[in-house]
Amino acid sequence: MSQNIIEENKINEVEKNEHSIQQLQNISNSSIIDTQIPILMYHHISENPEKWNYSTISPLKFKEDMLYLKVLNYNTINFLDYINFEQNGIPLPENPIIITFDDGYLSNYKYVYPILKQLDMKATISIVGWSVGRKYHKDGATPIKEHFTWEQAKEMYDSGVIDIQHHTFDLHNSGDDITCGKGIDKMTDENIQDYRQRITGDIVKLKNLIEKKVGNEVIVFTYPYGIYNDISEELIKELGFKVSLTVEDGVSDFSNGLYLLKRINMSHYEPSVKLMKKILRLDRRNEQVPFEDIKNQRERIRKLEQLLELQVD
Ligand SMILES: [Zn+2]
Repeated sequence: MSQNIIEENKINEVEKNEHSIQQLQNISNSSIIDTQIPILMYHHISENPEKWNYSTISPLKFKEDMLYLKVLNYNTINFLDYINFEQNGIPLPENPIIITFDDGYLSNYKYVYPILKQLDMKATISIVGWSVGRKYHKDGATPIKEHFTWEQAKEMYDSGVIDIQHHTFDLHNSGDDITCGKGIDKMTDENIQDYRQRITGDIVKLKNLIEKKVGNEVIVFTYPYGIYNDISEELIKELGFKVSLTVEDGVSDFSNGLYLLKRINMSHYEPSVKLMKKILRLDRRNEQVPFEDIKNQRERIRKLEQLLELQVD
C-alpha cells in the first residue's frame, strides 16, 4: 500500500466517524421532546350567530378547529400526561397540544364532549364552583349562560375525554360589586392576612368539592380574567397545584415550569385556517395549512373529514 492510499484511508476513516457522530446527533436531536406545547383557550359554544365573539364560537367552527388539529397531526394531552412524562418518563405523543375550556358551560357538555369523543381527543375544563348546574345568577332570577351539572362533569371525566379543573369557587367576579375584588385580586381595604385567608378558603372549598364530586386530582388553577399576583402564586403552590394558567397570548416552554402558562385564544373573529397558521408558527412548525383556498366552511370540513378517513385507513 502506498503512502497516499494509507493517507486516503485514514481520511475516509475520519470522515466515516464524523458521519456516524452526525448520525448519532441527528437521532438524539429527534428524540428530544419539544417542550414548547401550545395550549388553546376556549369558553362557550353557541349556535346563535349573535353570540359569537372573542370567547363564544359556533359548534361548526369548533369542529373545524379539531379536524384541523388532527390533520396537522396534533395529539391532545392533559396536564397530568405532561407531569407523568416529566416525572416518570412516560412518553408523550408527537406534536402534543392542550385544549382548555374555562367556566364550565353546558355547551361544553352538549357540543365539545361529543366531538372530542368522536375524534379521540381530550380537553381540560376549569369550572367555577358556585355556578355548577346553574342557569340563574345567585339571586335566582337573573339568567346566566347555563352550566353543566356535577353529574355531567363526572360523566365527562369518567369517559377519559375531559379533565375537570379549578377556576375558583366564587372569585370569578368583575369587581363591579364592592364586596369582592376583581378575580383573585386583593380588595383595596383588605389586609394581607384577611386576603390570604379569603382566597385560601375559596380555593380549598372548590378543590375539595371537585375531588369529592368528580373524583379527579385537582392540579390546575386557571386564573379568572388571567389576574394573578405573587401571593396567589405562592398560595396555589402551597395548596398542591402543579399548573397555573393565564390568558396571556402565546406558547410557553414547559421546561421552564408549569406556572403562569400562556394560552392561544380561539376567537370567533379568527377563522380556523388563520388560527392553525398561528399555532404552527408559535410551535415553530414550518408547514402549510391544507384547504386554505376553499372559502366555504362546510366544504373545508368535508375535505378534512375525507382526509382523516384516508389517514385512518
Ligand atoms: Zn373564566
